[in-house]
Amino acid sequence: MKVYADNAATTYLSKTARDRLIQCLDEFNGNPNSLHSDGQRTQEVLDEAREIVAKCINAAKPNEVYFTGGGSESDNQALLSAARGLAPKGKKHLITLNIEHHAILHTMKKLEKEGFEVTYIAPQANGIVDVKDIENAIREDTALVSVMFANNEMGAIQPIPEIGALCKSKGVLFHTDAVQAAAHLPIDVQAMNIDMLSMSGHKFHGPKGVGIFYARNGIRLVNVIEGGAQERGKRAGTVNVPGISATAYALREGTENMEANMTKVRTLRDRLIEGLKDIPYSQLNGDPVKRLPGNVNWSFEGVEGESLLLHLDMYGIECSSGSACTSESLDPSHVLLGMGVPVEAAHGSLRFSLDIENTEEQIDYIIEKVHEVVAFYRNLSPYWEELLTGKREHCIPEYWNA
Ligand SMILES: *Cc1c(COP(=O)(O)O)cnc(C)c1O
Repeated sequence: MKVYADNAATTYLSKTARDRLIQCLDEFNGNPNSLHSDGQRTQEVLDEAREIVAKCINAAKPNEVYFTGGGSESDNQALLSAARGLAPKGKKHLITLNIEHHAILHTMKKLEKEGFEVTYIAPQANGIVDVKDIENAIREDTALVSVMFANNEMGAIQPIPEIGALCKSKGVLFHTDAVQAAAHLPIDVQAMNIDMLSMSGHKFHGPKGVGIFYARNGIRLVNVIEGGAQERGKRAGTVNVPGISATAYALREGTENMEANMTKVRTLRDRLIEGLKDIPYSQLNGDPVKRLPGNVNWSFEGVEGESLLLHLDMYGIECSSGSACTSESLDPSHVLLGMGVPVEAAHGSLRFSLDIENTEEQIDYIIEKVHEVVAFYRNLSPYWEELLTGKREHCIPEYWNA
């Protein structure tokens, strides 16, 4: 059986997005900045995409939506341009979480080199930040708070409306990396007091290489990419209209069907959690309830996540042993360590990220194979042997949530 359970790394292209992409490549492949008819027809497609996206996140105006080259670029754009835009006012302090995506964390490091000061807040043991910790970190010179909507590795959903209200009351800008949330959780930038937001087409069945950046009108932005006057002068480069239009169509489809889709996905997720919890000395990472509908992140003591992953792949099950972006290094996940999961447990972790095309049969197959593979590697593991003989202390209780 083939089971794709790595939707947090990327999703398949939906039929809607594929059809629209091909239609645009055939019919609307002009340059929207050209004044001739072909250019103007393409401009209309771009305008339509902006309107669709604005509606999906309840932006006040379509011109608050910008298109970029991906979720990473949107994150860079939000942090770099807002920080540099506020620096002349003496605001040189930024706040974020230590469990953010590297597109945020590495950009923060770059800003530190430019003279900004960054506070990295650790979440609670369930992966969710305590809003009081953010409140305590805010200072007179704080320019921006950036907290992800939901975590890509362990799925915890952050208290976005509360953080938005706090930032508004303190006069601090609020950015959220909503790459994992878009089309999976309701987003309302006005009601949630979100000033800036990032999304990525390929995480909701659109094409890769298309990002969305929302910035409320009135925010001072400084360009990251210089050149022509595309995207209202904020992001230079000839606009990828086919990719953008396909992304907007995918976002609209995902948002319109979100409730039904996510009810189904949540049921599959909870079936998988139920099926894994009888494996001793293993645990679910991240809050069991306030988590992404499709995310299951599980740690198994005494085994390496990579071995499990490669063995499961031979059975046709595709998952992840940390975020795809860091899977080339064998360091344990900064997210799991950042929320206090012991190093030994972080080493033996797997992430399954489910979506609408998964089935109950597939979930039962994953449960069966994970039991088999964990037992197989534990039998070979000197580390597990030491745990059994009491030479080493367990770092995970015998039964999760018992
Ligand atoms: C995938 C992802 C990104 C990066 O998006 P790309 O389009 O791949 O650049 C950023 N943040 C989160 C939370 C992600 O899951």
